[in-house]
Amino acid sequence: MRFSEKCRVGIIGILAVALAVGAGWYAVEAKSLSSITSDSIRKKEDQISQMEQERTRNQDKLSDLQKMKKDLETKKSNLKSYVAQLDSNLAEIEQNINDLNQQISDKESEIEETTKELADAQEAEQTKQTDMISHIRMMYERDDIQVVELFVTAGSFSGFLSRADAIERIADYEKQMYDDYKANRQLVELCKEQLELEKEILDETRENVEAEQANLEVLIDQKTQDIIAYETDINNQADAIAEYEQMIKDQDAEIAALEEAIAAEKKDILKESGDVITYDGGAFKFPVASYTRVSDDYGMRIHPTLGVEQFHNGVDLASPKGTAIYAAYDGKVVAATYSATMGNYIMIDHGDELYTIYMHASALYVKKGDIVVRGETIAAVGSTGRSTGNHLHFSVRKNGSYVSPWNYISK
Ligand SMILES: [Zn+2]
Repeated sequence: MRFSEKCRVGIIGILAVALAVGAGWYAVEAKSLSSITSDSIRKKEDQISQMEQERTRNQDKLSDLQKMKKDLETKKSNLKSYVAQLDSNLAEIEQNINDLNQQISDKESEIEETTKELADAQEAEQTKQTDMISHIRMMYERDDIQVVELFVTAGSFSGFLSRADAIERIADYEKQMYDDYKANRQLVELCKEQLELEKEILDETRENVEAEQANLEVLIDQKTQDIIAYETDINNQADAIAEYEQMIKDQDAEIAALEEAIAAEKKDILKESGDVITYDGGAFKFPVASYTRVSDDYGMRIHPTLGVEQFHNGVDLASPKGTAIYAAYDGKVVAATYSATMGNYIMIDHGDELYTIYMHASALYVKKGDIVVRGETIAAVGSTGRSTGNHLHFSVRKNGSYVSPWNYISK
């Protein structure tokens, strides 16, 4: 499968044409590429270099701001979790207070009832006491009279004694009843005291819990203020970030405009020079805007099924369809057409027997004879010709032979 993805390029025919073109071209008096510049271009290049430095500084500052903002957001989020925990604690405390209020209210009802009971018990005791006193007094007063009568009519002292004993027993019974009333009243009193003590403890507990509630409310209030402060800081950071992003965007636009102006000026100069250029040894632009992997590298390889050595004359850069293909360097387009093997392809002459070749494009944006400058978009990645996946096949030829593209580009 991997092999079938490779472009197997029978490029010899194309090369014959290209070399013929190149040789003919080279025979004309060549101008140094250093002539493809001007004070105006150099000035713009200086501006670009300055702007790029400034852009780097802004990018650093932006990264710092983004990091600070992230830190603040983390702190805010932690604080929010803490406040949520406090809120939950507060809810528990409020439930606790509700429970205590209910208990206190129950206790108050009990005390109220007991107070009534006590009043009844006191009254009963009092009544019994009064009754008993008057009863006993009455009996003795009556018996005082009877004592004499009894003594006379009973005819015996034992009769009198038994009578006196009966009076005594009645008095004892009355006394016992009175004691019972008294004991009952004392019990109710004790009960009331106990209830009042219990209520006191509940009141005290409620006071403590209410104090806790007040403290917690103050703490939640403080933390909520802190969250608001963090939010303000975060908003300020976001504003600063937006400013820096805008600055960088503006700088990018200015740099792009300058690059475009340089490209236009270079093209004019190249045209004026009669399309004759020489390669000045400058670094190539990486020929594709982005790629996922080197799907096949330059050099000898063993054919996976045939087991024979084969030469792959360029690098295959796997990349999505439509990705921009760039001119690696200034030059003149010597081929921009279709072949069954190479698909839509472009060949650029950079002078001094140096050529670059771009294959399998889905679209071509330049035509034969066009002057292109380094980094100019010339085509879009595709899978035309002998290719089964979207990729750019990029080859470099120097003095009539393929050379490793990695001598001119870096990953
Ligand atoms: Zn290839």
